[in-house]
Amino acid sequence: MKITFYLLALLWIVLPMSAFSQNKPLKIIMIGAHPDDCDIKGGGTAALFVQMGHQVKFVSVTNGDAGHMEEGGGMLAKRRMAEAKEAGRRLGVTYDVLDHHDGELLATLPIRLEIIRIIREWDADVVISHRSNDYHPDHRYTAVLVQDAAYMVGVPNIAADTPPLRKNPVFLYFQDNFQKPNPFEPDIAVDISSVFDKKIDALDAHESQFYEWLPWIGNYAEEMPKEKEAKKGWLKSKRVFAPNSLTLAALKIWYGESKAGQVNYAESFEICEYGTQPSKEEIKRLFPMLQ
Ligand SMILES: [Zn+2]
Repeated sequence: MKITFYLLALLWIVLPMSAFSQNKPLKIIMIGAHPDDCDIKGGGTAALFVQMGHQVKFVSVTNGDAGHMEEGGGMLAKRRMAEAKEAGRRLGVTYDVLDHHDGELLATLPIRLEIIRIIREWDADVVISHRSNDYHPDHRYTAVLVQDAAYMVGVPNIAADTPPLRKNPVFLYFQDNFQKPNPFEPDIAVDISSVFDKKIDALDAHESQFYEWLPWIGNYAEEMPKEKEAKKGWLKSKRVFAPNSLTLAALKIWYGESKAGQVNYAESFEICEYGTQPSKEEIKRLFPMLQ
């Protein structure tokens, strides 16, 4: 009887502790403007999180219904939804596509509330989105929508039908090359060399983009091979970028001098000034691949 009591008491102490320990999966949400942005900017990092048992959701705020030279409207939105779901399947992430027109996004209150609810429902530890000086208006307004949600996710009277987060997530920006008014600063750089092929596999799922629209709008369609099998190799060759000097400096901080020099492919992120400001230890907990 006494032993049973002690065992029960022990379980009562140990079980809740384990539920809140490092074994609890991290919840990451990446919010891009279009159904391929998260894959391009964070697909490798997402694959690493998934490999380590954590949970990642990609959200596209627009439905991508303008991203083609011959197709458009509902049929294109449907095609892009199917491509996004397939990319998500290949990476092991959940992929949601919101039904807002591509190329026409504005930072409105209803969409802000929608973003707040999505971040809350995912119970996000980390939220990653564009910076607000990105080239595409949809990217800029997605950035504003996410920044506007950063404080409000914890305010109970806003979007009151969805319980507020009691811990503000860490908000991060995807990498970009825009310099004005201020350039991107990589605070976190992730070595994605081991999952680079998986990332390319995810991009390959967006056929309407990487094999049709982007080569057309970029005027390089003629260099793309005709055979389906050769296209993926060509896509990979288009995506090979060695880490730049700033990313390399960030890699050295997280991986050490010698390992950083061997990194072939990286994705980097900047800490947003809104949301929780993580210490170095907290970043290591939230990005367990940085060991
Ligand atoms: Zn985009």
